[in-house]
Amino acid sequence: MPHTSSRMAGNSFIEALSAALPAGRIKIGNNIPAGAEHDWSHESHAAPLAWVAPQSTEEVAATLRVCHAYRIGVVPQGGLTGLTGGANTQQGIVALSLSAMHAIEEIDARTAVAQVQAGVVLQRLQEALLPYDLVFGVDLGPRGSCQIGGLIATNAGGSGVIQYGTTRAQILGLEVVLADGSILPMMRALPKNNSGYDLNQIFIGSEGTLGIITRAILRLHPCAPARHTALLALKDYNASLAVLQHLRAKFPQGIAAFELMWEDYVSAVQQATGLPLPFATQAPLAALLEICGQNKDALLTEFENALSEALDQNWIEDAVIAASQAQTTQLWKLRESVPELFALRQPINFDLSLPISQGGAFVARCRELLLQRWPLCNPLFFGHLGDGNLHIIADAKGLPAAIEADALCEAVYQLLPEFGGAISAEHGIGSLRTSQLRYCRTTAEIAAMRALKHAFDPNNILNPGKVLPAQ
Ligand SMILES: Cc1cc2nc3c(=O)[nH]c(=O)nc-3n(C[C@H](O)[C@H](O)[C@H](O)COP(=O)(O)OP(=O)(O)OC[C@H]3O[C@@H](n4cnc5c(N)ncnc54)[C@H](O)[C@@H]3O)c2cc1C
Repeated sequence: MPHTSSRMAGNSFIEALSAALPAGRIKIGNNIPAGAEHDWSHESHAAPLAWVAPQSTEEVAATLRVCHAYRIGVVPQGGLTGLTGGANTQQGIVALSLSAMHAIEEIDARTAVAQVQAGVVLQRLQEALLPYDLVFGVDLGPRGSCQIGGLIATNAGGSGVIQYGTTRAQILGLEVVLADGSILPMMRALPKNNSGYDLNQIFIGSEGTLGIITRAILRLHPCAPARHTALLALKDYNASLAVLQHLRAKFPQGIAAFELMWEDYVSAVQQATGLPLPFATQAPLAALLEICGQNKDALLTEFENALSEALDQNWIEDAVIAASQAQTTQLWKLRESVPELFALRQPINFDLSLPISQGGAFVARCRELLLQRWPLCNPLFFGHLGDGNLHIIADAKGLPAAIEADALCEAVYQLLPEFGGAISAEHGIGSLRTSQLRYCRTTAEIAAMRALKHAFDPNNILNPGKVLPAQ
């Protein structure tokens, strides 16, 4: 009677887990918090066997020791803002939430370093750094929910990559619990450390499949006292590259964001939110850009001069520099209204990585292909084009049948090799894109990834079914 025996095994597992943890850490059945089964993707998911919220690294280790002994899968969960199903749960596995490990343990202003537990929410860290005039180099829309551990596990990007690099570049040290419950203590604030392999890097971007990140030492940056935000109307993609190159020369290290939005995206946001455009010009492209420096007035003059030179060159058709914090917020709202777009659609999301030079040609080809085959799929194009990251949101509501969503994804991914692109720039693979990894990774690369997975997690209990394609 396999059903009964598996239930008995489940019962004895829960008993063993309960014995290993202090009271109150485990929830089962109807007590599992609502929404704990899936991230924003709503990818395939089911209620887990148990939901555990440890309060210390030792408790994470104790949980994993029991799961390892019983061969029970474990899905680490941060703020559940992922877009690829990476944190989604399935029957018979344990969801391990880091949400109760939210201490900011230390901020050392002299060396610009912070030590945190993995469950610290990004916005809380940003607010805690304000009095020190320091910033963490990663910022993104769902800052009020995503956790530092989730950012590290996905090697998140966001709007600050152009200035500070991805999350990978912000990490000095990690503490990680391995599949068998052993702890790798790599919490060293060493800017340089060539003493053997850099194990931290293996866990960054591994989406919970190689270890559970419990603490981190973060590199911080001085907060630039002056900052200006502008929205530009551009005639085409080449013009945006010319503007970017021009501004890089004028403000070396000073470009804090360079986000592109094609006309289809801008008008969809306007329809969804009622946000006005600050200028009357209807241009094929809009760029949201942010410049930072030392002196607000001097920076503004330099910025105005740089933009008027770009106008003279016909690279930009119109430009508005935000005159107040309220206007800055409104300009950013144009770029960060993705949740409002999701709410009105059955979104099919893309997070493509492209050589920066190829962005314009790719968008033109992709839009033509999508509209020819699926005229009602309503694709919207935007992204962090300063770092070659193009997002597309298509709408499955406009497809003749649900199965067409897979065909649409395949059609987009099949274009990538020709342009030298990759299927994910920042959101990761999760469960959503495992079968498409082949479009940007060779068989040899996937084999090397499998070898790494086997070395760290021989029983395949850590986030099973994520990142690597089924064999
Ligand atoms: C509106 C919107 C905008 C977004 N914009 C961006 C953007 O600009 N740039 C960007 O990069 N992403 C963006 N994202 C995606 C998402 O916010 C990021 O991937 C974020 O890093 C996920 O963090 P989280 O704490 O919510 O992780 P979760 O969604 O909970 O988990 C993500 C993955 O990390 C694993 N994980 C979580 N915590 C740990 C841990 N402590 N140890 C090991 N594994 C762990 C999970 O198993 C899962 O595989 C956006 C999402 C939304 C909804």
